[in-house]
Amino acid sequence: MADRFDVIVVGVGAMGAATCWELARRGIRVLGLEQFDIPHSRGSSHGYSRMTRMSYFEHPDYVPLLRRANALWRELEQASGEKLLHLVGGLYLGPVDGPLVAGSLRSAREHGLAHELLNRTALARRFPQFQVPDDWSAMLEPEAGFLLPELAISTFVTGALRRGAEIHAHEEALSWHADAAGVRVVTPRQTYHAEKIVFSGGAWSQHLMSDLEVELNVTRQILGWVWPRAWESFQLGTLPGWMIDRLDGSVYYGFPMITHSPGMKVALHAPLQPADPNRVERGLLPGDEATFRPGLQRFMPGADGPLLALRTCLYTNSPDGHFIIDHHPRHERVILAAGFSGHGFKFASVIGEVLADLAQLGTTQHPIGFLGLSRFRP
Ligand SMILES: Cc1cc2nc3c(=O)[nH]c(=O)nc-3n(C[C@H](O)[C@H](O)[C@H](O)COP(=O)(O)OP(=O)(O)OC[C@H]3O[C@@H](n4cnc5c(N)ncnc54)[C@H](O)[C@@H]3O)c2cc1C
Repeated sequence: MADRFDVIVVGVGAMGAATCWELARRGIRVLGLEQFDIPHSRGSSHGYSRMTRMSYFEHPDYVPLLRRANALWRELEQASGEKLLHLVGGLYLGPVDGPLVAGSLRSAREHGLAHELLNRTALARRFPQFQVPDDWSAMLEPEAGFLLPELAISTFVTGALRRGAEIHAHEEALSWHADAAGVRVVTPRQTYHAEKIVFSGGAWSQHLMSDLEVELNVTRQILGWVWPRAWESFQLGTLPGWMIDRLDGSVYYGFPMITHSPGMKVALHAPLQPADPNRVERGLLPGDEATFRPGLQRFMPGADGPLLALRTCLYTNSPDGHFIIDHHPRHERVILAAGFSGHGFKFASVIGEVLADLAQLGTTQHPIGFLGLSRFRP
């Protein structure tokens, strides 16, 4: 088997799959190494749907990346014939000066994004599924919706393989070395050599990069599916993607019912229990359902029906909740993408392009300065 490549990508989840696709379609010899199946349900990229938004409440600096991400999702759809990005709209509920609505409005206004602000009366008329305090508002944006994560990863990988990438599942990168001559990666099967290495190891990133000097906090998260009591009101076409402000930096969020799984998906977006990805309980624990159930009871009583499924998933939280995309501080040949802090999937297409740029050219035109490691240095 070949042992020399231009680039080795360690971790073929969301970001690694997108990077393999992007490198392969540039004609670059890429090897992708994945320790489990492709795709799998032990990391951060499973559960049938991922929300995408444009008016990013987290920070307006993400908006240019989101614009490019959606253009690239559409390119991937064209190239593959698969439908991956479903723009069914996004509805963000909370006090108008709370972090969710105010942050979304700021991004929308700063970047001239289409949106509507609904007061409590307009919200009750248009979306009677929600019961919120009288002084709350909602922002509605058309360029939001959901992506299909398992299908997206499969589509990236299939496209990459068809364009000459080599991708190996069940082959863990055990160790690596980088010096002026190149990089070396050792697996249980073989030693590989390349010019550059991209680490996209998700929740295992700190295992691969113990010398990063930034703490990545992995947490065990819960996804739930319920059968809404008034199910007709929660179907695709009736309900957009939605988020509800909890006013403490966290939100309840969910999706209209889609055909890939029965019922309506709902979750709490906040780092939950600290976890080790190799030892985390992937079965259920008491209290798992209680992470999201109160949100339904309080704000969406018509959806507060029987439970259909629960799944665990992992967040890899950076110290400030923003992504980390950079060269390794001591190794120019090593590129890192980690700390996606529970909101990275929608960006996977553009992160793939950014990482391919960094591996191929050493730099990128994309505005990623705010995601660099230097922000953590004193
Ligand atoms: C419950 C939940 C809900 C979420 N909801 C949303 C949402 O609605 N919208 C959104 O945009 N984002 C959301 N996210 C976040 C998003 O899904 C993640 O940010 C994204 O999927 C992370 O991708 P990744 O490539 O970093 O990690 P992963 O997809 O987990 O990939 C990392 C891969 O690296 C592999 N790996 C690690 N170490 C090695 C090694 N040594 N050798 C070989 N392979 C290795 C792992 O096995 C894994 O496959 C959610 C996340 C969770 C957990």
